Amino acid sequence: MNHFIYNKNVIIFKYFLSLLRNNIKNISHLLERLRIMQLTVEQCYSVCVNPLQKSIKETVEKNNPGCSKEEMRNLIYKELKDFSVNEQYFEYTSINNFLGGYRWFFVCPKCKNRATKLFLPPAEAKNREQRYLCKNCHKLKNQSAIQGQNSMYKKVTRPIKRMKEIEDKIARGHLRPEKIQKLLDEHERLERDLKASPEYRLFSFKKKHDLL
Ligand SMILES: [Zn+2]
Repeated sequence: MNHFIYNKNVIIFKYFLSLLRNNIKNISHLLERLRIMQLTVEQCYSVCVNPLQKSIKETVEKNNPGCSKEEMRNLIYKELKDFSVNEQYFEYTSINNFLGGYRWFFVCPKCKNRATKLFLPPAEAKNREQRYLCKNCHKLKNQSAIQGQNSMYKKVTRPIKRMKEIEDKIARGHLRPEKIQKLLDEHERLERDLKASPEYRLFSFKKKHDLL
């Protein structure tokens, strides 16, 4: 009998251990996905067309005095086409700017949209194409947007979660009156801070108007 209980316990223990292992695997997988999802422009290498075309233009102007606007455009274009980084060459397009010259853009190699900057994710960011593409194609975020999400979590999601926890605890009963009092105080404080935060006002506005 004892032997049987021992075996049963070992089986249960092993079962929980395997659950735990799977969870850890799932969590690290999730974290990895989150890290990839939240890749920021600051974490990537970038190449910007403005300083590039500016330095090319200066040299071209110096070497070709008195050439026409159109000739200048063609010479700059030719030099830009020769530029490469990480063995990657780019396509360019230009529009007239208000000063009478041209404003240059990269053509994103993937979506073909105009971009002033292209980004190369760090090598550790697997599942990301290892070539320079626009911000949208690499699904990059700005650091400030991620910080915004964090403050949303701290100011809205976390207090709402905690309030729900307190409500459940009180609803379950079995608590000493002093404990209940303490929880009610905490709930009241959380609710007050929540309603006073700009993040919550925005959140409730979005929720009310189905914008979430
Ligand atoms: Zn693109």
